[in-house]
Amino acid sequence: MRQIRRAAVIGSGVMGAQIAAHLANVGIPSLLLDLVPQQLTPEEEKRGLTLSHPAVRNRLATEAIRRLQKLSPAPLFRAEDAKLITPGNLEDDLHRIAEVDWVIEVIVESLEPKRQLLERIEAYWRDGMIVSTNTSGISINAMVEGRSEAFRRHFLGTHFFNPPRYMKLLEVIPGRDTDPAIVEFMREFGTERLGKGVVLAKDTPNFIANRIGTYGLLVTFEEMQKGGFTIEEVDAITGPALGRPKSATFRTLDLVGIDTFVHVADNVRQNVANDEERRAFEVPAAIQKLVERGWLGEKSGQGFYKRVKANGKRQILVLDLDTFEYREQKNVSSSALEASKQAKGAAGKARALVQGGDRYAELAWNIVKRVLVYSAEKLGEIADTIQDIDAAMRWGFNWDLGPFELWDALGLVETAERMKAEGLVLPQWVEAWIAEGHQRFYESSEGRITMPVNGKPEPIHVPAGVIDLAALKKGGKVIAQNTGASLIDLGDGVACLEFHSQNNAIGPDILSMIEKSVAIAEKDFAGLVIANQGKNFCVGANLVLILMAAQEGDWDEIDLSIRQFHRAMLALRYSQVPVVAAPHRMTLGGGVEVCLASSRVLPAAETYFGLVEVGVGVIPGGGGCKETARRVAESVGPDDDLVPALGRMFQAIGTAKVSTSGAEALDMGWLRETDRVVYNDDLRISAAKAEVLRMAETGYRAPVKAKAIRVAGRDGKAALQMAARGMWNGGYITDYDLHVAYKLAHVLAGGDVPANSLVSEDYLLDLEREAFLSLCGEAKTIQRMQHMLATGKPLRN
Ligand code: NAD
Repeated sequence: MRQIRRAAVIGSGVMGAQIAAHLANVGIPSLLLDLVPQQLTPEEEKRGLTLSHPAVRNRLATEAIRRLQKLSPAPLFRAEDAKLITPGNLEDDLHRIAEVDWVIEVIVESLEPKRQLLERIEAYWRDGMIVSTNTSGISINAMVEGRSEAFRRHFLGTHFFNPPRYMKLLEVIPGRDTDPAIVEFMREFGTERLGKGVVLAKDTPNFIANRIGTYGLLVTFEEMQKGGFTIEEVDAITGPALGRPKSATFRTLDLVGIDTFVHVADNVRQNVANDEERRAFEVPAAIQKLVERGWLGEKSGQGFYKRVKANGKRQILVLDLDTFEYREQKNVSSSALEASKQAKGAAGKARALVQGGDRYAELAWNIVKRVLVYSAEKLGEIADTIQDIDAAMRWGFNWDLGPFELWDALGLVETAERMKAEGLVLPQWVEAWIAEGHQRFYESSEGRITMPVNGKPEPIHVPAGVIDLAALKKGGKVIAQNTGASLIDLGDGVACLEFHSQNNAIGPDILSMIEKSVAIAEKDFAGLVIANQGKNFCVGANLVLILMAAQEGDWDEIDLSIRQFHRAMLALRYSQVPVVAAPHRMTLGGGVEVCLASSRVLPAAETYFGLVEVGVGVIPGGGGCKETARRVAESVGPDDDLVPALGRMFQAIGTAKVSTSGAEALDMGWLRETDRVVYNDDLRISAAKAEVLRMAETGYRAPVKAKAIRVAGRDGKAALQMAARGMWNGGYITDYDLHVAYKLAHVLAGGDVPANSLVSEDYLLDLEREAFLSLCGEAKTIQRMQHMLATGKPLRN
């Protein structure tokens, strides 16, 4: 079976280094090669090195790896994974590519150097080795002219977007001779292992996303100038109001680099045959002028915007295109923009804006209509399906809706009529599709979604294993439901408990659904998955309810809530069938406690996991402290000192540490060796389902209830408290932090009992509840909760 066990990345610049980092993220070691420097740096001279010294010869790659650890956002899941990347250079180490399964070329964007490099690579190429290029838009076929047929069969484009860890899009571009089995393999590998959203693109200038995206940006510029709009007006219209990121048009250009954009646009202009299109890709004089002045965006400190500090205040000025001077931004508002703000969902927002009836609505429409028609015209040329074009724009440009999805949202038929009335010519296939009576590009019936392919409706491609909870719910698969959560039948004997309260915060509704779900699963299912497809897995317990009760001094209410929380967590822990939690993105406080109560945890690659309760002046109260103590006791030998391991967890909870990835969550001490990261978020629920089935088939047994837990006791508590005092002495924590830390130490150590006492789970839960309740009675805890609810940030009072 084809596999990628090792890789070589050639070119250690912005993209090459980060691609190597992402390979390291998923456990693939790589060689990272670059040119040999021709000159010593002053530092190297000082150290007495010569140009033949390996440290000098490998300098480019070595420094690139070092930089990876400082880049923000972090390209590595865990800094230490950088050791999976081996630096080298193209003169001494190229032969080592013979050991790898995949070579990816990521050097300068220019045909000739890429061609020459591929010729050198072929000298070490062996049958079966995949070779790809990360070019943004140079012809794949042109690059391998002169290479052997066997080599060409193994060559293709794999175009990552920057930053590769975070941008979901991977364009896979087969060449004329690429073996279809290799294309299929890379599609699967890109999806399952690298966690990317893969689209198949054709070998045309700039492939899919950059072709449509660049066209869209140029059209936006043209319409802006035609209508006399300002830069901030255009950004207000082409951002979230239209279902696109906040960086909208011009802040995106500043981030990408205006010179890079010009380079990309030029590449299309020089390589398309059609004159009209060539004109469309001509870069306007104003943008050329920016490049000439070196105003390239963020990297040069100014572009369409400029950050300044005036009177001690930070400010972002905007470029006035008439005077070419920066000025203060003006407030942009209109009824159409307001309507879009009020509307729900990307489709609703875009509709409200485009149909809003004022001059901003008209600008939005004038931009959108041209992008929609252009995308339709390019179908067949740049991609075979509308789905590939839509996905490329969603994943590569962070649009909420791709062009055809947006067209459907605006109403396919009405929109087409309006376009024609305004003189646009629609591609024949769109006319024919509408003439056949279709109301949408994507049609759904009986749970199947189809789209036009060669004039006929054909099913959309869904990678194996993608589960869509919303579709299952629509399809009548809900077993039980309340305001906070639903239990959904995933098929094959597995049910999924989905949270869907506001921010997925845990309140009484979710807790009662947890108990109910376990009962139903034990009766009717092989096991239970806990996962959802919301923005975050769970931000913690519902603070509003706790705060209200605390302000009213209703201690019984809080006491009952904690007891209910504990009951639900124990139901999970002692469920007779396996429970697999599959968290993603923010998984905080109560969300972590749900994971700790589950039999297994499969976090997504992007999971930000932590017990952060001290930020609101309490300690974990849903079994988090008890589970921490239990796991620490289980992680060490029966005679080992508990304090070192307990101290690490105490510090993590005491400083509200949150992991920066799923992989880091595994390292924090709460999760077990059997827990593992799922790289592709779309496959997270099916991976959890498969895990449930595997556990059920291999004879899952619930944990033993009566098992006593060894605790650190009063000596351990004293040690933890002393550590906290050290932090306080050093000025790292406030008086109140210290107060909360003391309570935390008390609970984690098992209270005032002799060291190494054996205690029951219920005893630890009682300690947890008492400490939580007493902290709720403190004014500073109430202030912390109020502050968090008002600002979303912790208060360090
Ligand atoms: P970069 O300039 O940061 O890095 C290029 C690296 O290649 C440098 O380390 C350089 O030393 C090395 N190099 C240059 N000429 C070479 C040669 N002849 N032989 C071997 N090595 C050579 O560039 P980048 O931004 O990382 O882009 C690399 C490739 O990725 C390009 O094809 C680019 O179009 C593509 N790409 C870039 C982005 C992006 O946002 N930067 C996004 C997608 C794709």
